[in-house]
Amino acid sequence: MRAYNFSPGPAALPDAVLERAKAEFMDYQGMGLSVMEMSHRSKAYLDIAERAEADLRALLGVDDDYHVLFLQGGASMQFAMVPINLARQGATVDYVHTGSWGSKAIAEAERVAQVHIAASSADGFTHIPHESTWRPSPSARYCHITSNETIGGVQFQYFPQTDAPLVADMSSDFLSRPIDIGRFGLIYAGAQKNVGPAGLAVVIVRKDLCGRAPNDTPRILDYAVHAEHGSMFNTPATYTWYLAGLVFAWLRQLGGVTAIAAVNRRKASKLYAAIDASNFYSSPVAHADRSLMNVPFTLADPALDTAFLAGADERRLLNLKGHRSVGGMRASLYNAVSEQAVDALVDYMQVFEKEQA
Ligand SMILES: *Cc1c(COP(=O)(O)O)cnc(C)c1O
Repeated sequence: MRAYNFSPGPAALPDAVLERAKAEFMDYQGMGLSVMEMSHRSKAYLDIAERAEADLRALLGVDDDYHVLFLQGGASMQFAMVPINLARQGATVDYVHTGSWGSKAIAEAERVAQVHIAASSADGFTHIPHESTWRPSPSARYCHITSNETIGGVQFQYFPQTDAPLVADMSSDFLSRPIDIGRFGLIYAGAQKNVGPAGLAVVIVRKDLCGRAPNDTPRILDYAVHAEHGSMFNTPATYTWYLAGLVFAWLRQLGGVTAIAAVNRRKASKLYAAIDASNFYSSPVAHADRSLMNVPFTLADPALDTAFLAGADERRLLNLKGHRSVGGMRASLYNAVSEQAVDALVDYMQVFEKEQA
């Protein structure tokens, strides 16, 4: 039996996607081989790759002004590729610092560019600084945000108006809600949260921002090179790309990002309501900025954490332990986590709380 998996990443995948992959695993559409065994240059694979891109474009309304790239190296590689491609040596770049993934993005950018912190919630990372308090630099090549901080559980519920192109690390809330693509210069997301298995990063980049990397940039780090080669400059993560395509098709069938956003809102509000209704559980995050994807919460007594997790495991509610840097619990409620999973978690939390009384 499949468990309820609240892992922050690599995270739950939809049952329907895994079933489909299983059915096609040994023999893809009568071809007598697995997708894993195909040439990435074959007609069959190119069809898979193109369909994935077309479905993703349809889901988010990405038009021809943008390239869609399927790259390797995870979101962490994008921490480096963004400043290398968009900010020549010494140029100024703005970062809005709202959590530990932002810290890592900033550390990489500092190796390449002059990082200006336009806003920060580093006094605990439990909120998103209000747009009116931001101090962008006039010459910034771009402004970088982390739309959802996976560890702290803070999420942008609006997207700021910036003069410089807006760049967003959307690894942990990509495809969880509709977004206005036109507001962004570049969006990147590691796959293993909401898109598919690990090994892939999706990059959506405005075409005019490509081709700006310095001449001595290694070609494999240049967006323009990947765009020119249809993300096949080197052998892509073929199977992960295929699975991502199955996830995109699944999402379209469900009604797209608007439909899943409604489900995501319901799931998160059930869990937050349970936390807020209790004196035993609490959430450290400012209400307005609470993430719908990653819900950190603490128990009244941290000494009970081990018992809570053991009881959860018994009910097959898996991967609820909070990140080692913040402690407590964290439930990740990505697209593939069902409403029943959240109901089962809330039920268990109420039972556990009563047992302590
Ligand atoms: C998981 C995550 C990353 C890192 O992804 P990798 O694939 O490990 O490089 C970066 N940013 C955010 C917001 C994440 O959730």
